[in-house]
Amino acid sequence: MTQQKLAEQALRSSEARYRLLADHSSDLIARHGIDGRWIYLSPAARAILGFDAEALVGLDPFEFIHADDRGRCLLMLRNLVSSGQEQSATYRVRRADGRHVWLESKAKPVFDSLSGAVVEVVVTSRDVSERIEATRKLRRREADLAHAERLGTMGQMASEMAHELNQPLYAIANFADACLERIQQQPPPGASEREELNRWILQIAQQARRAGDVVRRVTKFVRKGDLDRESLDLNRCIQEASVLLELCGRSKEIDIEYDLASGLPPVVADRLLIEQVLLNLVRNGAEAMEDLSDRERRLTIRTFQAEPETVGVAVSDRGSGLPAEHLCRLFEPYFTTKADGTGMGLAICRSTIEAHAGRIWAQNNSDGGATFLFVLPVPPLDRQHGA
Ligand code: ADP
Repeated sequence: MTQQKLAEQALRSSEARYRLLADHSSDLIARHGIDGRWIYLSPAARAILGFDAEALVGLDPFEFIHADDRGRCLLMLRNLVSSGQEQSATYRVRRADGRHVWLESKAKPVFDSLSGAVVEVVVTSRDVSERIEATRKLRRREADLAHAERLGTMGQMASEMAHELNQPLYAIANFADACLERIQQQPPPGASEREELNRWILQIAQQARRAGDVVRRVTKFVRKGDLDRESLDLNRCIQEASVLLELCGRSKEIDIEYDLASGLPPVVADRLLIEQVLLNLVRNGAEAMEDLSDRERRLTIRTFQAEPETVGVAVSDRGSGLPAEHLCRLFEPYFTTKADGTGMGLAICRSTIEAHAGRIWAQNNSDGGATFLFVLPVPPLDRQHGA
């Protein structure tokens, strides 16, 4: 027997063994010529592609491969033929019913035993449509979740911003109204009144700048939890915010009383954010006394040193107080009992104070009304200027 004949016989017997395996496999096993055309397909072609195996023999599989995947698969065939190395790919193939299925294929070269050239390609393919679809669904769900999370954060930020901007905007509108009223009055403002007008206009400019600062700082805080820390004397902070605090009190016709402890050690904190906390507490206190007619509408701002390592502020009103069922929900975002409330004020206060490693809480006064308190840690002496 010639060498050629021996080789052919060997090929035929391995082919027979191969067919036996292929006939019983749920994977699609196919033989292709080096131009890609089908030479043989196992019976699994029926289940996977919807065609009888014989119907596909002689056809070009690339005509069934999804246009978006065709280039990649052609390249794979070319690589295999030129390098003689196994290749694998995942791609879409059109079934007899027009639907596309995802196949995961491994392609192996068959070499001519004499010349060593690649003469055929054996491709084993598995239908992985379900797995790919499940992964796609998971990815879509993850993307949806990330989107929802971003929207949630943005929504919260928008609410916080709107809430915090109320104060400087209210102040701007108020001072601007006062200026207009005075300018339009007869006789026109004299020298001393012009001085007052100047002061009000200065306040407008200051508050407009504050509005800008609020946007910048709240965004920074909400996005990254960043604080602009500086050494801060709480008493000074209250005095400096007093224009806004008084304005807030005046709008609700309440008096603000200050009871500031002397000799308070400084804290290291974000001044603007702590001022916003104070403003929120004062505004809530003022609103709680809005309908009060039987008692004096008085709000007290007190500073104190709780233990050697903490200093605090207490804002006490003489309003309606806090029902037990509200006490545990006060600081939750969106909790409000007001018709036009946002329920963000106390949530912002808590996240600000906690970001400073402090604590905020509320309690009822024995003689009526509520007190909101917060404490901030006093840093060790050597870190007090480490803003
Ligand atoms: P908002 O003022 O928009 O309602 P807040 O978070 O500032 O949002 O307050 C949440 C709720 O806590 C208020 O709606 C009110 O019911 C209650 N609250 C806050 N401060 C006081 C207070 N000083 N006295 C009584 N209730 C208060």
